[in-house]
Amino acid sequence: MAAPEESVVHGSKARPQDLPSIDKLLRRPAAIALLAEHGHTLVVAEARALLERLRADAVAGRLAADSLQPAALDDALAAAVRARLAPRMRAVFNLTGTVIHTNLGRALLADAALQHLLAVMSAPNNLEYDLASGRRGDRDSIVEELLCTLTGAEAATLVNNNAAAVLLTVAALARDREVIVSRGELVEIGGAFRMPDVMASAGAHMVEVGTTNRTHPADYERAFTANTALVMKVHTSNYAVQGFTAAVDEKTLAGIAHARGVPLATDLGSGSLVDLAHHGLPREPLPQEMLAAGCDIVTFSGDKLLGGPQAGLIVGSREAVGRIRKFPMKRALRMSKLPLAALEATLMLYLRPERLAQDLPTLRLLTRPVDQIQALAVALRPALAVAVAPRFAVETVELLGQIGSGSLPVERLPSAGLALAPAGTASKGIGTALDALANALRALPLPVIGRIADDRLLLDLRCLEDEAAFAAQLPRLAELLR
Ligand SMILES: *Cc1c(COP(=O)(O)O)cnc(C)c1O
Repeated sequence: MAAPEESVVHGSKARPQDLPSIDKLLRRPAAIALLAEHGHTLVVAEARALLERLRADAVAGRLAADSLQPAALDDALAAAVRARLAPRMRAVFNLTGTVIHTNLGRALLADAALQHLLAVMSAPNNLEYDLASGRRGDRDSIVEELLCTLTGAEAATLVNNNAAAVLLTVAALARDREVIVSRGELVEIGGAFRMPDVMASAGAHMVEVGTTNRTHPADYERAFTANTALVMKVHTSNYAVQGFTAAVDEKTLAGIAHARGVPLATDLGSGSLVDLAHHGLPREPLPQEMLAAGCDIVTFSGDKLLGGPQAGLIVGSREAVGRIRKFPMKRALRMSKLPLAALEATLMLYLRPERLAQDLPTLRLLTRPVDQIQALAVALRPALAVAVAPRFAVETVELLGQIGSGSLPVERLPSAGLALAPAGTASKGIGTALDALANALRALPLPVIGRIADDRLLLDLRCLEDEAAFAAQLPRLAELLR
């Protein structure tokens, strides 16, 4: 069998001298059309790169002669230009079961936020301009009043993300001085953000009190010195200490700190502005409760449970927020106008709490009724089964998802979806088969991201809202699996 195959293959190979010159390639009608559409720079660069690739293949003796047919060259050049212009950042289907997925961009923006972004980003705007007086304004003032209304804070300021909010708070309030924090709250969140490192970066000296599982008021009381500048509480958002535990609540701690003239800051992490229990979800502490309990500063993220853009929100007393705002590092961490516009529109939605579960995608997805998700799984199963047959079998399943981004780590969200299992595959081939399926799903125009567990690929449908777009890709999936 080897001999005839070799002669056939050899006979159809192109030689380097068969390649057209770049001028000849660019004089073809298809190239002229590309030049007219995209201009000289891009098309010439792609033509040159294409010819280099073809030449390398020809020199290696692996360029099929057919690849140099005029139509094939036209197609290859058009494809190269298209690929060069394809954005690296793409929309995907998050069927992982984790609603606020940090690797998949966290919260989805509400329509209102997208519209507001478009309206104020495509024109000059009053980012730092006071329209009433005609004088220079402060970008914080765009949402400060809203944030105060929603949280009961006296003042608010904003930075790029919550990690920056914590860093800035500690630096502004406690640089070169001591910050007291419980050993039970020395949190590491993803991406190398560890509370002890943040304290060090901010130039503060961390004073740890208590133990991993129990910290008492007396532990804090003993730790104060003349150099104590701040007491810090950190919401243990991405883990839970269970069993024989004790922590000092904000109200008690505020009393202890204030009696010594020291402010109390709480890093909430997620920080929902509405009581999730009202929506049938597990409770997260609210910034407004923390402030009411006496915290001087509360920091939280814009793109976790709040459901907005990446942002670090700092709310609290006029005095403490004022010090933070004036601290020079604030300028380096300030929020950009894009997320600021999206944040304003998102916060606005909270003024109509009755509509929030409809208007805010994060809450809409988190509160999606399980029977609705189940019905979606039942409806999608047959078409998916056809697309992945005969290599995989598909069944509808009950699943447990999670909120994600460190919110409520222990709680699971009852959900539903589709499980794809290799059909008739020996057990040692299952992993490879599932990897191939996951690759095919990720290679779709709108990549589908699921999760692999228990020898199956699971697609949790809680976050699938555009089922038509999902179904439209199934023929392509079938091709990729062929
Ligand atoms: C998520 C989180 C942060 C960091 O917030 P980003 O907005 O991601 O920077 C800080 N602290 C806690 C407790 C968190 O959960």
